[in-house]
Amino acid sequence: MSNIAKQLQMVKATIPDGVQLVAVSKFHPSESILQAYEAGQRAFGESKQQELAKKQPSLPQDIEWHFIGHLQTNKVKGVVPYVHTIHSVDSERLLLEIEKQARSLGRKINCLLEIHIAREEQKYGFSMEQCTEMLSRLAWQDFEGVQLVGVMGMATYTEDEEQIRNEFRSLHTFFNTLKQRFFTDKAYFQHISMGMSGDYPIAIDEGSTIVRIGTSIFGSRTY
Ligand SMILES: *Cc1c(COP(=O)(O)O)cnc(C)c1O
Repeated sequence: MSNIAKQLQMVKATIPDGVQLVAVSKFHPSESILQAYEAGQRAFGESKQQELAKKQPSLPQDIEWHFIGHLQTNKVKGVVPYVHTIHSVDSERLLLEIEKQARSLGRKINCLLEIHIAREEQKYGFSMEQCTEMLSRLAWQDFEGVQLVGVMGMATYTEDEEQIRNEFRSLHTFFNTLKQRFFTDKAYFQHISMGMSGDYPIAIDEGSTIVRIGTSIFGSRTY
């Protein structure tokens, strides 16, 4: 068995049923993706439009591609043909552009609203207030190219597990608030994407439904 297949198995053994694993393959070659694919993995995460566009044609067509990085509006056209889910919707402009491009291709893309939960300044994402305000104003129910399936967040990069836990918990609470206020009758609004290699056990503990794991499966990245 390949090393990647072994690592994948070890990670999967720690993820309960009902939590989806997205294997984050950014900066790793297509051969590594194929090894994980052959071990049964189907959902992969990429963070750059050009890298995704380069890898996608040469890899099995039943791979479910998840876009997880900050996405510039002018790159939307280049990811919409390939992606199943975009985790990193962090502005209204981006959301509307995805809707426009996906609708014109006759595609419907699962989108998660990225919420800023970390203490760090530089991370992308809506504040909870911005997100609520946007949902109460936009006619997202009429979207044809976008299905809003949940929220995504990244915790502060810290050793302080309580800090991380509190941030994940705040995202779960916010998800519940949105669900109650806007999506009670919308079963598809069901996802909390949180947890990476360093913190996913805490995220699962706090109600994550999708974990995005790269390093623990593929090893460290060389940028
Ligand atoms: C790179 C990345 C991951 C995976 O990080 P690892 O620490 O390698 O598991 C998860 N989510 C996002 C948004 C990322 O950019």
